[in-house]
Parts: sequence; structure tokens; C-alpha cells
Amino acid sequence: MVEQLLFKLCVVNSNLTQCTKPFLIKRRFLFCFFFFAPYNKDMHFHIITIFPNLFDSYISDSIIKRAQDSGVIQFSFYNPRDVTKNKHKKVDDIPYGGGPGMVMMAEPIIDIWEKIIKDRNDSVLDKISFVLKTGHLKKKRKFKTILLSPGGEKFTTEYAKTTVTEYTDTIFICGRYEGIDSRVQQITNAELVSIGDYVLTGGELAAMVMVDSISRQIDGVLGNKGSLEEERVSSHEMYTRPAELKYRGKTYSVPEVLVNGNHAKIDEWRKNH
Ligand code: SAH
Repeated sequence: MVEQLLFKLCVVNSNLTQCTKPFLIKRRFLFCFFFFAPYNKDMHFHIITIFPNLFDSYISDSIIKRAQDSGVIQFSFYNPRDVTKNKHKKVDDIPYGGGPGMVMMAEPIIDIWEKIIKDRNDSVLDKISFVLKTGHLKKKRKFKTILLSPGGEKFTTEYAKTTVTEYTDTIFICGRYEGIDSRVQQITNAELVSIGDYVLTGGELAAMVMVDSISRQIDGVLGNKGSLEEERVSSHEMYTRPAELKYRGKTYSVPEVLVNGNHAKIDEWRKNH
């Protein structure tokens, strides 16, 4: 919808090139409007974790790195150890009711969460830097809080899409040890989210999986929008050159239909494979 509107504006814009002077002023005005239209999708990931270094390698390479460079995604990390009032920098304690392991204390996490929400207004410098990087105005911030938990709602592509459409900021709370004091969820109203039916040692990998999947739903993150598998007829069976691969005396051929280039037939094949 927005894209169609912008396209129409561009057409009007280019038609006006041949017009007389008053119209030329109008053309410049329209150009400015196009340039400063609010960006429909961008995302700031706020990650609360006692192991922020775990994210380093993944976010400093490939598509996620490029998306940061182009300004459409941004990361901030917050370590409960940095704000804990405990003099030994402790962030965990024994569970009430007994049982094995330790539980992450609520207060440091809540203090961080509150500060993130309180600082929700972008500084003028942030706004200028965003316009310079993307050519668009920044949208009003809207926050979603997610608490990673193996017992939570299952994460899906649909969840990733909704997050991008409805929010500008996602706060991830990563658990460690036995998990997090439940009052964090009660106070922050966080959504409990699981990435699958298995238990990890911490929420960091789960947050990274979600960051990756959410990011690819943002305009401009994937070089080619057609790469969004869920938007087209696609198959999990795929081939590239050579058309015939020889391995230990046997020939493995690419299915004939894919080589022949009849798009209707290719779509039909992809639906069934
Ligand atoms: N004893 C807990 C497991 C804690 S695992 C239990 O059985 O429920 C430690 C942390 O890892 C959790 O607090 C959560 O943040 C994260 N985690 C583990 N498995 C996860 C999963 N499948 N999805 C999302 N987060 C997970």
C-alpha cells in the first residue's frame, strides 16, 4: 500500500520535470516529501543478558551486520551485573520452596527494563543519524517485551512479522540457571516465548534466533524481497549448477521440469516438493 503510494508519487514527480516554473517548485516539494516519508519498518533490539559477549560474532557479520550499517536495525545490551545492588555483583539466589539450581533475581532486570522504557524518546542526534542513514523519518517508538522461556508460546514466522509491523523496539530478557523470578514477567507484562521443544542453557541463543528471523522481515534487510520464502511458491528441495552431478559412478540429475524453464510447471512442481 505505502509502496504503491510512493510509486505513484514518483511517477507524478517525473512527469513534472517537463512543466513550467511554478510546477517545478511543486516537484521539489514532492521530492522532499518522498525523501522524508517515515520509514515503515525499523527495529531496535534491546537485550538484557549477563553474557552480552555471546552475541558478538553473530551480529558483526553478514546480513545482520549490513542491516545495522544501513540503520534499519540497532542493538543495545544491558547487563544485570552492572546494576545489581548486591556488593558481590550477584544476580541470582536460591529458589524459594527449595529445589536445584539458582534463580535470577528480579530487581536488576526490572531496573534495566524500566530505564529502557523511560528513555524511549530518541535524542535529536539519534533522529538526525537515522535520517542521514536511511533517508526516512523515525517512527514513534513502540515497545514489546519478550521473556525467553522453554515453556512459552512457540515462536513462528507469523510472530516475527507481527513484531515488525506493530513495534519499533523489542526487549529480550534472557534467562540463565533455572530461570528468572516470575515477578519479572508479572511487572513487565512480558510475553513468554520459546523457540522450540528443547531446553537450552540460556536465553541468548533463543534471542539470536528471534533477532535473525525478525530482521529478515524488515524492508531492505534481505537484498532481494523475493527471497522471503513465505511470500512465494517455494520448495525445500532446490538445485544449482551443474545440472548433472557425478558421484562414485552414479549420476544425480536436476529434475527436468526445473531445467526447462516453464514457470507454471515449475510452480506446480514446487508446490508438491
Ligand atoms: N529449569 C528451567 C530451564 C531453564 S533454562 C526449566 O526447566 O524451565 C535457562 C534459560 O534458558 C531460561 O530461563 C530461558 O531464558 C532459556 N531457554 C531455555 N530453553 C529455551 C527455549 N526452548 N526457548 C527459549 N528460551 C529458552
